[in-house]
Amino acid sequence: MKSNFHTHTRRCLHAYGSERDYVLKAAEEDLSILGFSDHGPFPDHDFGYRMPYEELEHYLQSIDKLSEEFKGNLQLYKGLEIEYHQRYDDYYRFLLQERHLDYLALGEHFYYDPAGNLQNIVFASSTEAYLEYADNVCRGIETGLFRFVAHPDLYCINVLPWDDRAQEACQRIVSCAAKHDMILEFNANGFRRGKRPYPDGLRVPYPHPAFWEKVREQHLRVIIGSDCHAPEQVADESVRYAAEQAKRLGLDVVDTIF
Ligand SMILES: [Zn+2]
Ligand SMILES: [Zn+2]
Repeated sequence: MKSNFHTHTRRCLHAYGSERDYVLKAAEEDLSILGFSDHGPFPDHDFGYRMPYEELEHYLQSIDKLSEEFKGNLQLYKGLEIEYHQRYDDYYRFLLQERHLDYLALGEHFYYDPAGNLQNIVFASSTEAYLEYADNVCRGIETGLFRFVAHPDLYCINVLPWDDRAQEACQRIVSCAAKHDMILEFNANGFRRGKRPYPDGLRVPYPHPAFWEKVREQHLRVIIGSDCHAPEQVADESVRYAAEQAKRLGLDVVDTIF
């Protein structure tokens, strides 16, 4: 069964294509399941390059309509990839219970440091930030509100060495995921970004092999996510490559998050 639970649309302001464009491409690629997980908006804060809050209702209605239209051919799910912070716990519950989303993906790009300042993990100045990032991800996992963690090794995007703190951040996320039986996503978009020089060699920003070695040791469930930002990426070469790499690494790949 071919599936993808990590799909963006133009509503997040940095991807291309409508919901319909992705559905048509998924059908053409013989997917059985397509889960939409555009970047989730917050009513009181704009993290930038995100769906405006006013778009949320249109997004959900559009998926509902397409669900009806493609019934029997393609199973659609309504989700969001969303930042985690405990101050929004009621909001996540509102999305799941009142807005009837099928799932939330924990996609942590921003986190609050111990001083309460909002930080973007993509611009970490030292690997100390990795520990704070990991602790935020773990707090999200512990709520039980998320179906999977998107790119749990996103912090490896920084041009910093894989040191003891990088290893410790990995350990914290993997241990917490193991304790809560959480699915981790092996993200194909990291492969799309291509290889670059890092202190630990020429590699893609993520997935990082050292991280996934720990995931393998713990026998965690792993989902391959396209993280497509254009319809032609739904099941592209990078998704196939990610699946091959996950297999090569001995990961326990599943095809659904439910
Ligand atoms: Zn993301
Ligand atoms: Zn994404």
